[in-house]
Amino acid sequence: MSSSPLSSSSSSPNVNNSANSANPSSNPSSAFNHFLHKAQLITGIGVTDAERTKDLEELNLRRCEKMKNDLMERSPLIIFMLKHLRLSGCQVPEQNIFCVPCASPFASTSTTASLNSLHPASQTSSDSSSLNTQNRTQDNGPTPLHAGAYLPHPHGAIKLCAGHFFSKQHVESTIAHELIHMFDECRFKVDWANLRHHACSEIRANNLSGDCRWTRELRRGEGIPGTGWTKGHQACIRRRAITSVAANPACPTLAHAERAVNEVWESCFVDTRPFDEVY
Ligand SMILES: [Zn+2]
Repeated sequence: MSSSPLSSSSSSPNVNNSANSANPSSNPSSAFNHFLHKAQLITGIGVTDAERTKDLEELNLRRCEKMKNDLMERSPLIIFMLKHLRLSGCQVPEQNIFCVPCASPFASTSTTASLNSLHPASQTSSDSSSLNTQNRTQDNGPTPLHAGAYLPHPHGAIKLCAGHFFSKQHVESTIAHELIHMFDECRFKVDWANLRHHACSEIRANNLSGDCRWTRELRRGEGIPGTGWTKGHQACIRRRAITSVAANPACPTLAHAERAVNEVWESCFVDTRPFDEVY
């Protein structure tokens, strides 16, 4: 008997709330409350830091997923890579490329964390001031911050760090970078614990993805070293490949990473497969 009023009162408001949240503009009061809550989240007045962080995280995830979906449908670079992966026998379902907040519990699980550090493929070393601070500590041990990571077998997936991107083109080059790692594993049976294998794939990924465009380097604050674009491009590839290999758990020191990159440089820099030439 007593359940009737309770179930009635609990279901009705839910229906109304659902309708209001679906279209807040249809209810002036709800629309105002929605606006007020958004204003609070922006100004920080009347909301907790946790609420603001959660709101920002959700916003970053939505933006990241939207950019990823657009790129998978329209980017010639991404479509080209997905096609050649498919032709090589490695289909990449859309859900295998996903956005996560990189401080999320998922990203910090032990398995994923070790894989992340193996492939911090698109480091954002100078892409934003907040990342700069943390990257300066990388010599002391923490994994370098990155915008994406390839999660090898059995995952065969690409993680994108929502909120770590400064443009859609940055998302594009990050996905392309990770797809080249995926292509290498699909075609060449890469052993990621072998530093020479890892170095070769990093050289190719940084060379072919657009990670080392001169505009990207300027944004990182690296400038264009040397007298010409070619030298700057190669310096960028070498620097980023060494940093990634150095983050491999199998790499004892930075010197080992430098040696691995140097040893395979000549053959891997000119290997542009599946492209005819550098994109
Ligand atoms: Zn990489």
